Amino acid sequence: MSTAAATTTERLRRLAGTARDADVDVVLVAPGPDLAYLVGRSVASHERLTLLAVPSDAPDDAVMILPALERGGWDGSPAEAAGIRFVTWLDGEDPYAALLGELGDDLGAAAVDDHLPFLHAFRLQSARPELRLRPAGELIGELRMRKEPHEIEELASVGAAIDRVHRRIGEWLRAGRTENEVAADIAAALVEEGHRTADFVIVASGPNGASPHHEASDRVIEAGDPVVVDIGGPNPAGYNSDSTRTYLVAGGVPDPEFALVHELVRTAQRAAVAAVRPGATAESIDRAAREVIEQAGYGEFFITRTGHGIGLEVHEHPYIVAGNTRPLEPGMAFSIEPGVYLPGRFGVRIEDIVVVGDEGAVLMNTSAVDLITVQPSVE
Ligand code: ZN
Ligand code: ZN
Ligand code: ZN
Repeated sequence: MSTAAATTTERLRRLAGTARDADVDVVLVAPGPDLAYLVGRSVASHERLTLLAVPSDAPDDAVMILPALERGGWDGSPAEAAGIRFVTWLDGEDPYAALLGELGDDLGAAAVDDHLPFLHAFRLQSARPELRLRPAGELIGELRMRKEPHEIEELASVGAAIDRVHRRIGEWLRAGRTENEVAADIAAALVEEGHRTADFVIVASGPNGASPHHEASDRVIEAGDPVVVDIGGPNPAGYNSDSTRTYLVAGGVPDPEFALVHELVRTAQRAAVAAVRPGATAESIDRAAREVIEQAGYGEFFITRTGHGIGLEVHEHPYIVAGNTRPLEPGMAFSIEPGVYLPGRFGVRIEDIVVVGDEGAVLMNTSAVDLITVQPSVE
């Protein structure tokens, strides 16, 4: 068996183990990152049903139900090599009844992928009203949360790619250009530097920086503006980058509080990175960043959690947030991105991805976190 097929078999067995512990009879995996993680490949999710059903007591008998017209795409796939049985259905047939027929009559509880469109879950439930559906996100997240060495290599290489983009910021960011113009150039650079696509490009200048998920607009960037640049996307293997730096555009009269706030956020971010170690709780990392910002009197302006897990999705488990008492374990990968958002004025966020190592955080991003003033480049 190929390595990829062996990985699939091993992951399906681990998933079945977590499902048994949760008293779930079958896990129903939808197209998307969970399917990609388990079988190395995914397909588009649409109105035609595709589902991988993993029985918790017989993971080696997993069944993939899919439209007949898409069967060819799986020829020679690791999923096929791993012995997953493919059951196809034709337009006009009822795939929900077909799936339930494959799984038998004595199903009690099914865990359903968080990425399954509600319409499919609804039809499945209608086809078997006594089936107890529950979300599978945490079961699958349990597996995906701890990265294997080759996954950490992917995160490091896509991290290096996004660092190269940040280091080139002076090529694009300057007064007189709109956020959209700068964002378009950055998006192209993401692909040039090794991303499959630019998934998100936030260029939030001046007061727009106070909104953490502002993307980019027609606002013309001015001299002296702070600019939050939060960018990332997947590499060809599907692993994501996500890194934020807050720059200052040279000239003009910067907000008198900006340098102080930038230094505060930098200090908070480094405090949280330093707090990472196996056994520390996820919420303690949030606390480490928040304490620094609260003590300086800016607590009410730190309006987000400190971070999120990352891998095949940009946001996944574990979440670095108050209330998450889960102890960190080696291999967990997540962002550390405290910020201060001053409405009507500016925002500052600094974000790196870290992986929990035996001794502490291993940074996947190494571009400078000090304040960088972007000078107008001579062309
Ligand atoms: Zn976000
Ligand atoms: Zn980000
Ligand atoms: Zn992030």
